[in-house]
Amino acid sequence: MIIHSEQEMLDFGKQFAKTLSSQTTTTQESPHQSYAEIKEGGQQAQPAAIVIELIGDVGTGKTTFTRGLALGLGIKEPVTSPSFTISKQYALPNSGRLIHYDFYRLPDPGLMSEDLAENLQNPNNIIVIEWGGSTANLLPKNHHTIKIIYTEDGREVIL
Ligand code: ADP
Ligand code: MG
Repeated sequence: MIIHSEQEMLDFGKQFAKTLSSQTTTTQESPHQSYAEIKEGGQQAQPAAIVIELIGDVGTGKTTFTRGLALGLGIKEPVTSPSFTISKQYALPNSGRLIHYDFYRLPDPGLMSEDLAENLQNPNNIIVIEWGGSTANLLPKNHHTIKIIYTEDGREVIL
């Protein structure tokens, strides 16, 4: 899919938020992989946070997508880039938080990986990660991956 403008990227984020809320209503039939399962390789059916990994060069629109996602999730606070603070969080209207990480300036997540691991354990959380390469082994196997590529016509989004 080609996204031609910032507004279209915001709309795509909003739309994606809707697919997530329909997903949480079917949690019982297809639970997210549990954090315990990921960490221990075990079989416990404890649900974990929803994770969206955003892959794309600087300026492709990862933060813009997240801004749209937040709007779609009903977050009123403005979403700004976490590239200096590494993470920012916003309360979701019902329970849990949207947690937005940007590991660009932190090639070794160190203590932040403990923070991420803890946030992954709350099934009400929605976690968005930019530049998450170094956290790959912490993320649930079934996490969402969105790739954004510059093309001559606009940003190509690959789900
Ligand atoms: P990233 O987080 O990937 O570094 P940002 O979302 O912070 O990128 O910035 C993307 C910039 O590109 C914004 O200034 C936005 O206005 C601009 N832009 C231009 N075209 C698009 C598009 N099709 N999709 C998303 N952003 C776009
Ligand atoms: Mg960004």
